[in-house]
This record gives sequence, structure tokens and C-alpha cells, in this order.
Amino acid sequence: MREKHLVVIGGGAAGFFGSLRAKAVNPSLKVTLLESAILPLSKVKISGGGRCNVTTAVYDVPRLVENYPRGRRELYSVFARFGPRETVHWFESRGVALKAAADGRVFPITDNSQTITDSLTQAAEAAKIFVITKCPVLAIRRLGDVYAIHTDHHVYEADVALLATGSARQGLQWAAQLGHTVVPPIPSLFTFKISDALLHGLAGLSFPRVVGCLQVAGQNPIRQAGPLLITHWGLSGPLTLRLSAWGARLLHAAQYQSKLILDFFPDHNAEELRSALLRLKAACSRKQIGNAGPAELPARFWERLLTVHEIEPKWTWSVVSQKSLRRLCQTLKHCVLEISGRGTFKEEFVTAGGVSLKEIDLKTMESRRSAGLYLAGEIIDADGLTGGFNLQQAWSTGWIAGNAIGQRTITASPMVKI
Ligand SMILES: Cc1cc2nc3c(=O)[nH]c(=O)nc-3n(C[C@H](O)[C@H](O)[C@H](O)COP(=O)(O)OP(=O)(O)OC[C@H]3O[C@@H](n4cnc5c(N)ncnc54)[C@H](O)[C@@H]3O)c2cc1C
Repeated sequence: MREKHLVVIGGGAAGFFGSLRAKAVNPSLKVTLLESAILPLSKVKISGGGRCNVTTAVYDVPRLVENYPRGRRELYSVFARFGPRETVHWFESRGVALKAAADGRVFPITDNSQTITDSLTQAAEAAKIFVITKCPVLAIRRLGDVYAIHTDHHVYEADVALLATGSARQGLQWAAQLGHTVVPPIPSLFTFKISDALLHGLAGLSFPRVVGCLQVAGQNPIRQAGPLLITHWGLSGPLTLRLSAWGARLLHAAQYQSKLILDFFPDHNAEELRSALLRLKAACSRKQIGNAGPAELPARFWERLLTVHEIEPKWTWSVVSQKSLRRLCQTLKHCVLEISGRGTFKEEFVTAGGVSLKEIDLKTMESRRSAGLYLAGEIIDADGLTGGFNLQQAWSTGWIAGNAIGQRTITASPMVKI
């Protein structure tokens, strides 16, 4: 009998995991992985600032899915089968030691993404997967039961095809040509452009926990909490990225113009904060107000706050009026900023949108529109917050696709370890 052939289009996280799992389940399957770039796994390589935040230590599935603004409900069954725990096991059983940071991000112990890319390329080599780089796929056509995959110098015939082209527009176009609905791709996980006197000159300052509320005109507010970072152009840090992910569609529709309301003291109500400032005033009445701000705030931010409220940092606390105190409290609890655009700095940038999940059988990742076509990774309409959730989506959907492909193509070959 002719050996079955799987062609994987896209050598990223999802493409590699799909190839490896398919080959593990069905060693007699011929697997060819086509990658347009000179080297595969380029996003994994640059991920996490070169450290590769490979997954998350959020193992509990109900909690895990809360980190996916799109795909939350649908990914439940996917992660129940192959989630962060299985990912950690996959890498550790191949000699890649991992460590979890206090905030739940999981990295290779080497803090070097090369450890992850090496383990994947070595596993592919050992499994005799044909990884062909510098090989952009130009077209995919369905010819009866097989797929014809066109490249510059060859047409590959595939019994099964795995489309794992990430955010590339071409992959989405092929999916559409093969009958799929594509939810328009838009950016997620971006920083905010804000020009406000309160932030000016404070780039680099960070706050451990701020609550932010995005108020796009005419829409329900979006609230998130987390660390905040001031940048040269506005705001970044986990809180900003979270708000950008949950508000990705609304912000896109509003051309990235929105109000952002920050609460710098989320664990105290306005009255408690006012009392705390009054206590500070009483205790430090002879001290210069600029040198005796609340311990929770960076000194430079406090000074700037005073300046924008026309309070001289050199004044002593004793001269600060009740009215000024109220205004300071108001800004600290309800600081209104205007977002005027999207930052271009790519910390962890991902695309929201993609192939509609309704048209994919999530038990197998097979297309419901084109039999024998599988989809995995960023190409599907499911994306997560920053913190290893996006790579986990790619590992999980890639593994499930590969598992189903291996089983589908199996003839009489033995099952092998995961
Ligand atoms: C700067 C940056 C940092 C990130 N850091 C993290 C992180 O630390 N943790 C995390 O969880 N997520 C991170 N992400 C997101 C994460 O990298 C992606 O979600 C993930 O890589 C998606 O995997 P994928 O396999 O679906 O797509 P990709 O990794 O994009 O792989 C798709 C592959 O398909 C290839 N391809 C496309 N079109 C064709 C074609 N026509 N022919 C052949 N090949 C083609 C591409 O060259 C690419 O190699 C980061 C993203 C960026 C941009």
C-alpha cells in the first residue's frame, strides 16, 4: 500500500507539534513540513524577548481558558486533552528543563529560546520529518481526495494537509478558498499611545498593580488589573496588554481612540485614600510635599502629579489645601487619559481573528468544510493574553491535529509514546 503523506504548511510552533505528534502516532506516515523562511520557528526564537515564554503554570483548565479573549469556551476541551501540563511534560521528557516565574510564566531554565527551537528541530530530525525551508507555498488546491500543494519548483501531493501558517494573510486566503469563514484579522496585545502631561518624562516607571478601565465611546467598559509601565509614547506592561487584548475589536473599530481610566490605589476606596493622605499630611506637615509622598507611588510620579495639580513640590504639606488634596485623590483613583493610537513596540504581538472555530472540529482540528484539511495555531480565531498562552494554543491545537492525523492515516503501525 502507498504510504500516506502529510504536508504541513508553516514551520512554527503549531506546525512542528502537529508534525511530531502525527509521526509519533503513525511512524509510517510520510511527513513533509514546508517553511517559507530560511529557518523554521522564527517566532518561537524571538518569543519572550529571546527567552521564550513557552507556556503558563495555569494548569487548571477553567482558570486557563479565562486568559483567552477569543476562543475561551471552545478551547476548554482542547486544553482538557493537551494543556500546559502536557506541554511541560513534552519538553521535560526530551531533556528541556523548564522553570515557572512567580507570575506563572514558564521559561526554559536556560532563559534562551534556542533551547526550545533546538529540541523541536532535533525531534523532527530524529523522527525523519522532511523539514524543507526557503520553500514558500504558493497555492493549495483540492483534487478529489488529495491536496496539491504548489511551491516554486514542486507540487506536493498530500493525503492530509495541516495549515499552520500563523498570522500570514495567504494562509487565511487559502482557508477562505477552501470554504472557510475568516474572522477579519486585527492586532491584539499592543501598547497605548497616550500624550498626557502626567506621563511626560516618566518613561520606565512602573506600578505593581493598577486597575484600568477602557471606555470606548458607546460600548461597555472593559476592566482589568495588573502591573503598568510608562513608556516614551504612553503606556505598556501587562495591564495595558490585557486591556488591548480584551478590547482588541472595540479599539480597532474606534480607530484606537478611547478613554482609559486608571485607579492607582485599587485596594482602597476614595475615602480611605483621602484619610491616608490626611494622615500623611499630619505626620509630615513640615516636610516638603515632593519628598514625602505615599510610599506606594514612585517618587517621580508623585512629583509630576503635584506639578500637574499646580502644587509646588517644595511646599510643605501644611500648606496643601483640602481642595488640592481632594483633586490629588480624584486623579489617583480616577485618572482619565486619552488613548490616541496603538503603540508599535512589539513585546508580544498576536493576531486576533482567523478561521472561524465553528467550522473546525475541535476534537481533531479538522476542517468541517474541507475533509483532510487540518488547522492549528494562530491561523484559527483563538488568541490569548501575554504570559505563554499563545504558544500554548499553538502547542495544543498542533498536537491535537497531529494526533488525529496520525490515527486517521494509520494502517498497521504501532502506537508510540506521546
Ligand atoms: C515578538 C513576539 C514575541 C512573542 N512572545 C511570545 C511568548 O513569549 N509566549 C507566547 O505564548 N507567545 C508569544 N508570541 C506569540 C506566539 O509566538 C505565536 O502565537 C505563535 O508563534 C503562533 O504559532 P504558529 O505556529 O501558529 O505560527 P507561527 O509561529 O507564525 O508559524 C507560522 C509559520 O508559517 C510560515 N509560513 C507562513 N506562510 C507560509 C507559506 N506560504 N509557505 C510556507 N510557510 C509559510 C511562517 O514563516 C512561520 O514560520 C510572541 C509573538 C511575537 C511576534
